[in-house]
Amino acid sequence: MKKEDNFSEWYNEIVELANLTDKRYPIKGMNVWTPYGWKIMLHIDSYIRKEFDATGHDEVCFPLLIPETEFQKEKDHIKGFDTEVYWVTQAGANPLDIRLLLRPTSETAMYPIFALWVRSHTDLPLKTYQIVNTFRYETKMTRAFIRVREIHFFESHTCHVDEADAQRQVEENFAILEKVMKPLCLPYLLLKRTDWDKFPGAYYTVGIDTNLPDGRSLQLGSIHHYRENFSRPFDIKYEDLQGDLKYVHQTTFGMSERLVGAIVGVHGDDKGLVLPPEVAPYQIVIVPILAKGIVEEVTLQAREVKDELATAGLRIKLDDRDVRPGSKFYDWEIKGVPLRLEIGSRDIKQGVVTYARRDSGEKGTVKRTDLVRKVTDILRSISDDLNEKANKNLADSIETIENLDTLPNKIVRFGWCGSEDCGHEFENRTELKLLGTPYVKESFRGDCIICGADTDTAAYAAKAM
Ligand code: ZN
Repeated sequence: MKKEDNFSEWYNEIVELANLTDKRYPIKGMNVWTPYGWKIMLHIDSYIRKEFDATGHDEVCFPLLIPETEFQKEKDHIKGFDTEVYWVTQAGANPLDIRLLLRPTSETAMYPIFALWVRSHTDLPLKTYQIVNTFRYETKMTRAFIRVREIHFFESHTCHVDEADAQRQVEENFAILEKVMKPLCLPYLLLKRTDWDKFPGAYYTVGIDTNLPDGRSLQLGSIHHYRENFSRPFDIKYEDLQGDLKYVHQTTFGMSERLVGAIVGVHGDDKGLVLPPEVAPYQIVIVPILAKGIVEEVTLQAREVKDELATAGLRIKLDDRDVRPGSKFYDWEIKGVPLRLEIGSRDIKQGVVTYARRDSGEKGTVKRTDLVRKVTDILRSISDDLNEKANKNLADSIETIENLDTLPNKIVRFGWCGSEDCGHEFENRTELKLLGTPYVKESFRGDCIICGADTDTAAYAAKAM
């Protein structure tokens, strides 16, 4: 299956062949994490934990079930999630007086407790995050990692003394995001969502969008400023220096297992996955090239190389299965292992190890005596090249348009006066999703693509995955 011919089918096939998830679980959209897929997810989580811990956030874990009475406190929030919620209505043989729901997101689980935790200005800022599973009843066709009903989810929730401090948190979240995405080699756009598309209950929402090879955009997460929209209904108040009670201002930041889907979609090729070294379960696979009379020598060398690289902290697999090297190459290419090392009798004689890069296909040899340093360099250069290639792809996938006559199969950028009427008309006429306007203002001068009014604002739109 060729990626460029039919991205959608290619994606499903590659996920299946690489055994990233098992979709045979008897609830649609609730997939089983296989060991290989889960390892990738845990590496991503480790970057998230590292950056949030480093910025003074504390990891917490709240219950999965939320009472309906709490869920109903923020009116827009209920409206936004109502049709997607799974309900628990019975416990044992007894119908419940108050229905419980499986968290679709955790605001309404956390905020009644935040109201107890936050008493004084000295309790602020309160910076928390959790990595849990959330549930949303998707009615559209499900797709591994991208559209599922049980979602591996990261969410940070913070409380602040005022709007400005919450705004500082939003800015800190952008800095964290940049650090988390670097090892994943995923470029993204930060687009402030339109008012009709912001998170239910938010003051504003910034979407984190990347591009897929078929011209679609894929939302990887979002960052929200809530102002007092949740602290008022949930009564999260603190006593300020003067002894007055004030409502906190809040922010959240959410991302999900879609990051795995994006890694598959952005970096993969016709041979399979291409994993960035930082998230690959195995960064290196060693394939011994055995021949009569040298089996022992080659095996010994391969084990030594493995130990040496493992001691240096690299994640490494020695494939000593009793199958031909060619089929080992094929298997590990599908699984996207960044670097393959081959050791045969000629390599041993010359004191080298042969390598093949998964991303570029480049082959060469490195000196056995300089192995750790060279291999580390190659892995770093794979990561750099994947970042560079993905950045270029994203830049190339955006086209500025001046009218709606012929729409390219890309993310489009165009003038927008900012009115809701023009926004809706644009969406109706193009059947694209208006993703919003750049969070960091871009210099732009043009006409609103619908009403023709002079504007300095560019908006972005795409077919959304
Ligand atoms: Zn307009």
